[in-house]
Amino acid sequence: MPILLKNQTSDQLHASLAHAGVSPHLARRILAAAVKRGELPAPGSHLNARLRDSLLGLTEIPHLTQVQKVVSPRDGFTKYLFQGRGAGQFEAVRIPLLHRPDDLKYVACVSSQVGCAMGCVFCATGRMGFGRNLAAWEIVDQVVKLQADSPHPIGGVVFMGMGEPLLNYDAVMTAIQILSEPCGMAIAAKAITVCTVGIIPGIRRFTAERQRARLIVSLTSADPLQRRGLLPVEQSNPTPDLIQALREYHTVSGQRVTLAWTMISGVNVGEGDAKRLATLTRGLPIKLDLIDVNDPTGRFRPPSRAELDAFRDALRANLAMPVTRRYSGGQDIHGACGMLAGGTTLIRSRA
Ligand code: SF4
Repeated sequence: MPILLKNQTSDQLHASLAHAGVSPHLARRILAAAVKRGELPAPGSHLNARLRDSLLGLTEIPHLTQVQKVVSPRDGFTKYLFQGRGAGQFEAVRIPLLHRPDDLKYVACVSSQVGCAMGCVFCATGRMGFGRNLAAWEIVDQVVKLQADSPHPIGGVVFMGMGEPLLNYDAVMTAIQILSEPCGMAIAAKAITVCTVGIIPGIRRFTAERQRARLIVSLTSADPLQRRGLLPVEQSNPTPDLIQALREYHTVSGQRVTLAWTMISGVNVGEGDAKRLATLTRGLPIKLDLIDVNDPTGRFRPPSRAELDAFRDALRANLAMPVTRRYSGGQDIHGACGMLAGGTTLIRSRA
């Protein structure tokens, strides 16, 4: 089996190809050429023609096939549908950071799996069920393809597309390393966000490994019984244990814990919800990200203006922690949070 480039960090690539005479420096050059140009480096001082020939036999540069691209005429969000090497297709969304028009950058919202096994009741991806894990190169190549199609740089990556990233841990962390390496995409690890529905073993491993990417945990309810009805993951990853894991994460990383809260009219936007959240997270520095539910089936509706205002007042009164509301774009192309039969797309505005 050839070694797939874009599927290994430069250190891993060096370990895989050292027997062929590849130095650490050459491994970085090989990764850079594969990521940036989709080819092996040209022969030169570090790569003679014979070694290049043997690399042609030892390695392969895989590419995703772009199946579809849809641009939102409303807000410029762009949804891409890709086919990798295995079964099933998956989506990524390019998000323009509209609040910085003089320095336009994009965020790439990427998928980590085809479908998802988590079954969150308001999520179109969850309704698909689980297909398969994506390989690291299939994650990296989503960003590579979006960058190649973009007039401005991709400045950040969010794992908010299809799938639960902490259930594809190794591939996701390898992809993050490749994306952040100077010889990869050179995107700072702190500009890469892993969004989990609350997989406790994954959070503990993320903490123990002192991963530098940002972590967002979708809480959505501070009432375990209610949460279980919305996010079935609660059954195997109960809220008290989850909060304990997040306290450990905060102690080790020193980071404020970002919790995401999908707001559903009449369900989790009352004063009692704010009070329960305050009690649950007492002593833990958090930041709360509010996002409107996007349910194409119409079963769940976002809060009314009055509900939203009342919820924000209750959070201010009880929580005393930063609260932001995310703008969920790309709704018209089914590219918004929870609408992808792949992809969750967000930019921030003040709550
Ligand atoms: S919200 Fe995320 S974790 Fe939940 S079903 Fe959708 S993709 Fe999976």
